[in-house]
Amino acid sequence: YKMFENLSGRLQGVIKNLRGQARLTEDNIADALREVRMALLEADVALPVVKDFIAQVKERAQGREVLQSLTPGQAVIQVVHEELTKLMGTDNAALNLAAVPPAIILMAGLQGSGKTTTSAKLARLLKAQKKKVLLTSADIYRPAAIEQLRTLAKSLDVDFFESDISQKPETIATNVLDHAKRHFYDVVIFDTAGRLGIDEAMMAEIKALHTLLNPIETLFVVDAMQGQDAINTARAFGETLPLTGVVLTKLDGDARGGAALSVRHITGKPIKFIGVSEKVDGLEPFHPERMASRILG
Ligand code: GDP
Repeated sequence: YKMFENLSGRLQGVIKNLRGQARLTEDNIADALREVRMALLEADVALPVVKDFIAQVKERAQGREVLQSLTPGQAVIQVVHEELTKLMGTDNAALNLAAVPPAIILMAGLQGSGKTTTSAKLARLLKAQKKKVLLTSADIYRPAAIEQLRTLAKSLDVDFFESDISQKPETIATNVLDHAKRHFYDVVIFDTAGRLGIDEAMMAEIKALHTLLNPIETLFVVDAMQGQDAINTARAFGETLPLTGVVLTKLDGDARGGAALSVRHITGKPIKFIGVSEKVDGLEPFHPERMASRILG
């Protein structure tokens, strides 16, 4: 991804240096880690995340596993790879739909983060898995948002539960639950309103929806292009809602990729999917190890 080009280039430089060393001194390691630290900060990775990461790598790089290795440079690279993977979450965290049907997926995030697009992308994935999926929107503040989801649902041939701006979000939630139960839907994807910034009314509304819907998944959708702002938003949502996972969108963008590396550490929640294009097929399960391999080249 374009987002990681700079970071990748920098880290690959460090790796090349390390690989070339037959012997590693503490100074070599310190130099390499300084470079890694700079590269991460320049990529806009949050400072506390960088600090923890470097401390972790340093401790292991000074340990026996590296010092007694026949190829210490390679061993340090291995440590960086493992720690980078761990930073993003170790394993792929799958969507959890183990609920008495309908399993509810509640979508949360700021306006423009990609909630509506991601709702449609998820519906497409689940439909391919033969699930009976129902999409609905409680974005009563933007009629265009409801229309956007209706259009996407139609193009995917997924059912859409009608709502309109005269209704309260809570009413839409109660109605869709009732409808989904009566018509034996497996999954309901519930898109919500997003504001431009975090405000109390928005948080109170989504909290109330969460209580009403009792979703098995509460996904926080965040635009990776937002950089440090993405992290602040993630923290605020994580403190208000019991999030079960994160969807990181617009990884195909050309902003610096730091948010992608920080969001797991900051929220403590797994990144379940990444958005990699505007199109409805542009959603991929997130694999931390594969991402680390891509970044380190
Ligand atoms: P919402 O306000 O959170 O519902 O956001 P939308 O779903 O309307 O998305 C906002 C904009 O971001 C739209 O133009 C989408 O096409 C675009 N978008 C969403 N996800 C992605 C993605 O993964 N990659 C790219 N390039 N664009 C995306």
